[in-house]
Amino acid sequence: MGKHMRLLTRHVTRILVYGLLAVMAVLPFATSHSLASPVSEISLSSSVQVSFPNSITFDVKAKSDVNITKLRLHYIVDDQNYAEVVSESWPQFTPSTSVDTQWVWNMLESGGLPPGAQVEYWWTAQDSAGHSTQTDTSTVSFDDNRYNWQSITTGPVTILWYSGDNQFANALMTAAQQGLQRIQTAIGLTPQGHVSVYIYGSTSDLQGALLFAQQWEGGVTFEGFNIIAIGVATNQLSFGEGAVPHELTHWAVHQVTFNNYGAGLPTWLDEGLATYIQGSVPDYQAALNYAIKNNQLISVRSLSSPFSAIPEQALISYGESQSIVTFLLQTYGKDKMDQLLNVFQEGAGYDDALKQVYGFDQDGLDTLWRQSLGINIAFNLRQELVMPGAVPA
Ligand SMILES: [Zn+2]
Repeated sequence: MGKHMRLLTRHVTRILVYGLLAVMAVLPFATSHSLASPVSEISLSSSVQVSFPNSITFDVKAKSDVNITKLRLHYIVDDQNYAEVVSESWPQFTPSTSVDTQWVWNMLESGGLPPGAQVEYWWTAQDSAGHSTQTDTSTVSFDDNRYNWQSITTGPVTILWYSGDNQFANALMTAAQQGLQRIQTAIGLTPQGHVSVYIYGSTSDLQGALLFAQQWEGGVTFEGFNIIAIGVATNQLSFGEGAVPHELTHWAVHQVTFNNYGAGLPTWLDEGLATYIQGSVPDYQAALNYAIKNNQLISVRSLSSPFSAIPEQALISYGESQSIVTFLLQTYGKDKMDQLLNVFQEGAGYDDALKQVYGFDQDGLDTLWRQSLGINIAFNLRQELVMPGAVPA
């Protein structure tokens, strides 16, 4: 069992309800290595099979004149969130002169990897005579080969898609480039490196690629991997043209705010920046108006936690976050926003960071933001939101 457990940080774009689709696609990725180490008499070869999104199977064959006693898989996930961590796994086998065994990385146990994630690996072996050897390092790409991907690249963005024509992909690329431009002019961020944006042909296809999806997830940014996945049907182009800049903002913001203290951004800030760059979304605006009218606004402090899984509450949360960040940017400017992101990078708490840059904490922000909307503040900041069943109109 691998020790390489990680929680993937995800961001969510939109509310759509679909079930999980678990399709196995077993795609051989045969890479073999023979060894010829002068100090060793063990022969060692390996291969790997990706079964997206569920597992990677690492096969190994080892032979020696005496019993093979130790076999170990070493692997590294190419995720910039962490210092390079080498994980190790030990396959089951009975000591013998000829061993043919495997270790299966079960993503259902460890947490999933995004499409296109790179895993470096190598095997080491030892026999009862004390010989040891290892294979060369190989890289397996955790590709979603259930689909025939096409790709286009412009600047730092590659868009991969399999449903829809070139015009569809070009429109999403245009949205990506305009999004990057806006991220720079509106927030002052210039992301470094390259990002791959996987456009699944529908929300259900996307959900089929995510092992632990919220049932309303429409887009995900895998921070640290430089990978984004979004479900966009060909008749949902305008949704896609908003979702691409939204997720690119998460990617860009994460680059400047990631730190080793484990502290992230309050959700209202992360989603507020993403929706600010995304632009006008009628559903968000309607949900915000509904919440204002019915005294159902959620406090800024509550919005610092992950948003509700209940679609109506999540919509209000996005609408509010967009409004709060718009208020901050329009009132105090993008330089202050840059300072705020930098303070978070240093690991500051939510209230401390705000106080340091703006002179008020989350409750103070709540008050000022409500005032900016013209809302009277006979309101308990800690009140829980109770939504009626109705979808915001
Ligand atoms: Zn988001």
